[in-house]
Amino acid sequence: MKLKIFFFKFQMEVLIEKILLDENVERLNYLLENSNFETLFENLNFLSLLLDMCNKIKVKKNFLEIIFNHFIKIQNLQNYLDIEILLCSVAIFKISSIKYVYNFFPWDTYTLLEKYLISKIRGDISLIYSISQKITSEKLTLGGLTSLLQISKNEIDKNFINSLIKEKQEYEQQEYPDWVDVLENEKNLKIESLDENYFNIEPIDEDINELENHVKNMCVFNKEIENLTDIIKISLSSFSNSNKNSNIDPDRIFGPRNAIIENECISGIKGGCRMLSCTCKENEEEWFYNSCDACLKKIRDPSHALRFPLNGGGWIGCYCSLICLVKQPPLNFEDDDENSLEFTELRLDNMQSTIETKKIYDRFKKKK
Ligand SMILES: [Zn+2]
Ligand SMILES: [Zn+2]
Repeated sequence: MKLKIFFFKFQMEVLIEKILLDENVERLNYLLENSNFETLFENLNFLSLLLDMCNKIKVKKNFLEIIFNHFIKIQNLQNYLDIEILLCSVAIFKISSIKYVYNFFPWDTYTLLEKYLISKIRGDISLIYSISQKITSEKLTLGGLTSLLQISKNEIDKNFINSLIKEKQEYEQQEYPDWVDVLENEKNLKIESLDENYFNIEPIDEDINELENHVKNMCVFNKEIENLTDIIKISLSSFSNSNKNSNIDPDRIFGPRNAIIENECISGIKGGCRMLSCTCKENEEEWFYNSCDACLKKIRDPSHALRFPLNGGGWIGCYCSLICLVKQPPLNFEDDDENSLEFTELRLDNMQSTIETKKIYDRFKKKK
């Protein structure tokens, strides 16, 4: 029986080689449709041999398509990408042959790994990655790796992607932020040696109702303003309340304010719920862990980080850029209120305009 298959295989090889050399599309189609290829294609060695042949003869794209379409049918696959995963995941295929396939049906490593992780194609993720990297020089980004990590189901895949992330973090850093600088009057500033009460601020505990009536009276047309109470609260919480006796601005040193009205951080040097100091809404006392919550890029210094202003006041998370902050807001940010998205935008606007107009004091440059 084995001998029979061997001869059949041998005959097939000779026959296919001739068909490929003759560039005879009809005959190749006919042969694949009418011969017992299931047995041959069950063994990937045969596909490997066919591809070597195609590469040697330099067949045209349509021949590869015919072979692949047939293979997809027999192996119950979805598309060419599945075949490419197989090519990269089994060490029997020659790199030169895989390259030949790649010329006609290019892929990128991200798409290949993504498809591997969500489908049930056999393979070993580290092998797929390393072979794909030999074929295409395109590199995975930290953002890409993070999304791959999220769709990984088993420990082996997760561990492998984590190792790539670690490797990448070694050298991938946040771009130097354009919202930080050091002003002339801050050149000799030593935050550590400032008096504990230096930035003492007034807590925000205004009578909102009184303010609301005041604003209403000011409105010339006496029109109802939708969500007036919330808008007043939001404007109040970003009220800087700077120390008038100082030329050092707390908005620059500890970032914009997003007060938790009537329950704000204690007063003092880091007083008020400010972007770079408030931990009211964090689970830990610490909020800065050296990397961006969204893309995992390294952040050099807390003063280079941006954080998410919560609707009830306070800050959460740690981001390298506004893009990352908006793209991947913290999982636990409040979205219980149907207007919260609109209010979040208002708070983000306040934060952005404070940072844009005042900028943040660059503690990193100062250290150097
Ligand atoms: Zn706070
Ligand atoms: Zn980021």
